[in-house]
Amino acid sequence: MGVGRALRSLSRSWYVCRITCLSLFYQEFMSWSYVLDTLLEPWFRLGDYGTQALGPLFVLTVVSLNALVVGIAYLVGLPYYWRKNTQLALGKDLGFGPGLVVVGQWFFVNMVFHFYRAWSLSPGSPPTTGQSLPQVSSICKKCIAPKPPRTHHCSVCQRCHLCMDHHCPWLDNCVGFFNHRHFFLYMVFTVLGCLFLMVFGLEVMLEALITANPTIPVVNFWNNCPISTRSLVIFEAFLTSGCFLILGGLTLWHARLIHRGETSIEAHLNRSETRRLAVDGRVYRNPYDFSPYYNWCLFLGMIDGRGWRHVLLPSTHLPYGTGLEFDSIYSCDIPWNFPRVQNQPKRVPMKLA
Ligand SMILES: [Zn+2]
Ligand SMILES: [Zn+2]
Repeated sequence: MGVGRALRSLSRSWYVCRITCLSLFYQEFMSWSYVLDTLLEPWFRLGDYGTQALGPLFVLTVVSLNALVVGIAYLVGLPYYWRKNTQLALGKDLGFGPGLVVVGQWFFVNMVFHFYRAWSLSPGSPPTTGQSLPQVSSICKKCIAPKPPRTHHCSVCQRCHLCMDHHCPWLDNCVGFFNHRHFFLYMVFTVLGCLFLMVFGLEVMLEALITANPTIPVVNFWNNCPISTRSLVIFEAFLTSGCFLILGGLTLWHARLIHRGETSIEAHLNRSETRRLAVDGRVYRNPYDFSPYYNWCLFLGMIDGRGWRHVLLPSTHLPYGTGLEFDSIYSCDIPWNFPRVQNQPKRVPMKLA
């Protein structure tokens, strides 16, 4: 009897304990993925702190690699073509256009300009001074503040950013509303610059590797310098082809997103929304997809009279709007002034409303 009573008492105590714990920690959304998220949170935090701390080092790496590639092109490639074919280097009497020197400079100036702008410009954050927001989509759980549409919290910067695309460790900055165009154009000009060096550097590399007595200029940094011109050319080929492949893939991925009128974060959200609505037989439509033509015009800022000159040459123009509110295919009150749009009223997205 004594043992039975003790067991019943123990069972009751366990029941009370269990109920108390459940009442204190009950979570309606408890699932294995939630538990996994919670367990991995410290590791994500560690990764975020690491990215933040190493940010300046990443930027220094990018700048150094760019400087190395351009430096070798100037030390080896330019003197090679200058000696061999000055007309090609300068573009004289060729009907070829501006010549290798000017084309190379054009890539280089654009690269430096867009990298500097993407690195130094803030992507933009919601106001923190109690200013009322024209549009609010939700509340940020980290900042405990309202979020405008397309705004997301960056756990590395530890703040919300307007129209956030992603946190770029190589820029030590978030890519968002105000610097997204510079980020993308930096990649485009870098990839094109690499292609340019690969095409015109092939002859230099073959000369350096195959020819018994290469005519490539000798680079001698100091007496008995251990770095040979041949190793500089191989290093250049390795860097440009690697950069062309990796950055080229990333550029294509971002071009696809811009084409569809979405950011990297929205691509995931839109995909899951498409799947969710498909279960009920409904079709999800991205509210910021104004068709590829208008998506590119908006992204590149080719509105209000601006054209290709503002894309092909360095331009500091800011994106359309404030980043705090966005027109959608359901509102569509964009004051289009781009000449081609005015001439083709049928394609104005007002029709989509
Ligand atoms: Zn936030
Ligand atoms: Zn960030």
